[in-house]
Amino acid sequence: MPTEPETDYDPTLGNKFIFVTGGVMSGLGKGITAASTGRLLANAGFDVTAVKIDPYLNVDAGTMNPYQHGEVYVLKDGGEVDLDLGNYERFLDVDMTSDHNVTTGKVYQNVIEKERSGDYLGKTVQIIPHITDDIKRRIREAADGNDVCIVEVGGTIGDIEGMPYLEALRQFAHEESEDDILFVHVTLVPYSKNGEQKTKPTQHSVKELRSIGLQPDVLVGRSTDKLDAKTKEKIALFCDVPTKAVFSNPDVDDIYHVPLMVEEEGLDEYVMDQLGLYSRALPKRERDNSWRELVTREQTGEIDVALVGKYGLEDAYISIHESLKHAGLEAGVKVNAEWVHSEDLVDGHDGELDGMDAIVVPGGFGSRGTEGKIEAVRYARENDVPYLGLCLGFQMAVVEYARNVLGHEDANSAEIDPDTSYPVIDILPEQYEVEDMGGTMRLGAHETNIAEGTLANRVYGATSCTERHRHRYEVNPEYIEELEDAGLVFSGRSNNRMEIVELPDHPYFLGTQFHPEFRSRPGRASPPFVGLVEAVVGEDEASDSEEVEA
Ligand code: GLN
Repeated sequence: MPTEPETDYDPTLGNKFIFVTGGVMSGLGKGITAASTGRLLANAGFDVTAVKIDPYLNVDAGTMNPYQHGEVYVLKDGGEVDLDLGNYERFLDVDMTSDHNVTTGKVYQNVIEKERSGDYLGKTVQIIPHITDDIKRRIREAADGNDVCIVEVGGTIGDIEGMPYLEALRQFAHEESEDDILFVHVTLVPYSKNGEQKTKPTQHSVKELRSIGLQPDVLVGRSTDKLDAKTKEKIALFCDVPTKAVFSNPDVDDIYHVPLMVEEEGLDEYVMDQLGLYSRALPKRERDNSWRELVTREQTGEIDVALVGKYGLEDAYISIHESLKHAGLEAGVKVNAEWVHSEDLVDGHDGELDGMDAIVVPGGFGSRGTEGKIEAVRYARENDVPYLGLCLGFQMAVVEYARNVLGHEDANSAEIDPDTSYPVIDILPEQYEVEDMGGTMRLGAHETNIAEGTLANRVYGATSCTERHRHRYEVNPEYIEELEDAGLVFSGRSNNRMEIVELPDHPYFLGTQFHPEFRSRPGRASPPFVGLVEAVVGEDEASDSEEVEA
């Protein structure tokens, strides 16, 4: 049996917990504030993880519409979770599991299943203690093995759905030592007409928190600018915290600069001090500085990448935006992701793509906008524009080839046209009998074997890759030979499943059945995205370091 790797984690130290709640309104970016604080703690040498609580009744985010909730983020264990988990993975540079996304659906499902199997025999099953116990157990389990666990409660104080969680946190704080818990409340500080920062909304939301027995230790005011000294004093006085526990969180252009701003405000130092971590933190000059170096790196030049999708909402494709940004940071060029509505591209109306340096077709479900996506593939293929197709974008690339190169005009994915005479993309055999929609796709990390001497091989610099999946359809094995004979190359396979497609006589044409965007991190950009950006800027300029090594 392999022995457990040695870690310097000292279990006797116990976990420290940072509970983050939000006031006044949602969408304040409390997740980014929390993740940024976590990044700074990690820079100081601590193992940091996070739990996102989503008080909705869905068991997971898998069945939710990206237009309402933003992208469904996929974890390596196949968990379909809230996009905030993506931010935590990117900021903390950790891989999380489904257990790090606690939803009311999961909690109730478990408690009700236990009730049915007789675990609570003779008892009345209630929110307190059964639901709250289950919530506390989940937080403790997810935190296990880390120094610090950030627990973010989604929604806003006062929401009915959030109540059992706040009660669970109240109990939790009683059960743990006071030094191990810190309550951080993030609220909105708006401006009055005459430009004055108003603290009343903050006062009200803290009042609401206190009425359920929670006293925040730290208050973070989200506003356009930094909080005035007067505003901080007022918040401190009314909310019963020292003035030094009130922090600003002004708007910044780039979310990757939030950690720098949090550091400037001293929130990380305050948190370490309050949690008794300060003496164990690395001295300042020894802390990991790579985040700052990366996000302040100079970028010369700009490129425009068309993102051809059907949801006109950045959050619906957030991991793709982030991956393009990471690739840009690596290549030293600013990447502008230009949104192009796929429905605008039909019937040869591809003028919107003129002048674009590269084209990305993202994942998607259902038929809306697919003809425009196929049109975007054709444009990229015929005009030698670097192309990256992700999941549905991979499938549409195969459909486009079958239609326009092989001449099967009717070729399609069976998902889009069940009656097509040439179903070049068809349902996965293991999906024939599947009826439930939640959590039933081919999900999570699977290994792909990459053929030597291919573009994929060069891009990954390896003969295999392990990336995350979320699909029900695949390339129909019946047509592979015909497609390959006509020049399409399937350079990545997982057993007999086609995972990567490419075109040899093209500057950069790559499609992946998986979603590489879920593994891209600042400082560790996803290879297919780096390949795309480098194909535009020219590899020599992009990575001279590699040149030296070669
Ligand atoms: N709808 C396609 C499938 O299920 C593609 C999925 C995706 O793009 N994530 O296979």
